[in-house]
Amino acid sequence: MTYQAAENRYASMPYRRCGHSGLKLPAISLGLWHNFGDNKPFDNSRAMLLRAFDLGITHFDLANNYGPRPGAAEETFGRVLKQDLRAYRDEMIVSTKAGWEMWPGPYGEWGSRKYLMASLDQSLQRMGLEYVDIFYSHRPDPETPMAETMGALDAIVRQGKALYVGISSYSPAQTLEAASILQALGTPCLIHQPKYSMFEREIEQGLTQVLSDSGIGSIAFCPLAQGLLTSRYLNDIPADSRAAALDNHFLNGDAVTPRLMQLRQLNDLALQRGQTLAQMALAWALLTVTSVIIGASRVSQLEENVGAIANLAFSAAELQEIERILAS
Ligand code: NDP
Repeated sequence: MTYQAAENRYASMPYRRCGHSGLKLPAISLGLWHNFGDNKPFDNSRAMLLRAFDLGITHFDLANNYGPRPGAAEETFGRVLKQDLRAYRDEMIVSTKAGWEMWPGPYGEWGSRKYLMASLDQSLQRMGLEYVDIFYSHRPDPETPMAETMGALDAIVRQGKALYVGISSYSPAQTLEAASILQALGTPCLIHQPKYSMFEREIEQGLTQVLSDSGIGSIAFCPLAQGLLTSRYLNDIPADSRAAALDNHFLNGDAVTPRLMQLRQLNDLALQRGQTLAQMALAWALLTVTSVIIGASRVSQLEENVGAIANLAFSAAELQEIERILAS
């Protein structure tokens, strides 16, 4: 059936300015790291992308290596774009990245000009796009000169293959260096993509200050700590969860037990606020970052998570209670 986007798709999602740029991002963005690869049914991936767009999620976050099979998530996205979303391309922000291992040999990872340029060309081909909205250096490269990596990002924008550039997982000092090189080249750093959630708060120790001083936006990855900060693990480890998946090495069941008491208390607090735990965790992260990139394995999770926008405010007492629980 031909997809027709919901007419009310812009009715409730807040769009927030990304640093000192002209670009606004939805408070909630959708990431395609998991659940869009060869190992998942295409129909479910498609349903999530279309529902997300109907809910006002205009920003889709990819990377060259998302799958599994590295590249498969970009292909899935390209297929849905071609089949359903082509008419809406100008309403969408598509991001991709390069930095992690993508192909064998010395030119298939890190931050050389050789790798970044080739990788973006491959990504564009997989997605069937002429340009992405944001292209990221996915991780800092300790060996390649920063000027080369940033020079490649600048060249990519000048070639028209990306509109904006960003960095991910750069330290505060690396961020300052990258931002100043990019500024001098005339292609300001739009955004930083760090890991951030109630359980991963390192960015509060310096990075957030650097970003705000430099006018760079921020977008948190794993804002739900891969599903821990939801109702998924409050009672057990469901067989269909990420923590139980045998082919997933990023979250395992052992991560749940030490957090269980905190999760149950946070869940109680969320219920008092009239939210689910996932909704409260996203609202809390949005106090610090421009946007959060959620993952989802089904449409119902996406719908629940977007519900966070109904209550983004916290009282001082609620914030104190969260700190108390996290310190316990
Ligand atoms: P989250 O922390 O949002 O975790 C998503 C997972 O949590 C889902 O796949 C699902 O897992 C579970 N979940 C989500 N919502 C609910 C809910 N309402 N109820 C119950 N369970 C829920 O993010 P991800 O770890 O998926 O990362 C998000 C995105 O961040 C990625 O897609 C990617 O775009 C980006 N990213 C970037 C990185 C970087 O280096 N720059 C690194 C990692 C991610 P389940 O399968 O159990 O249902």
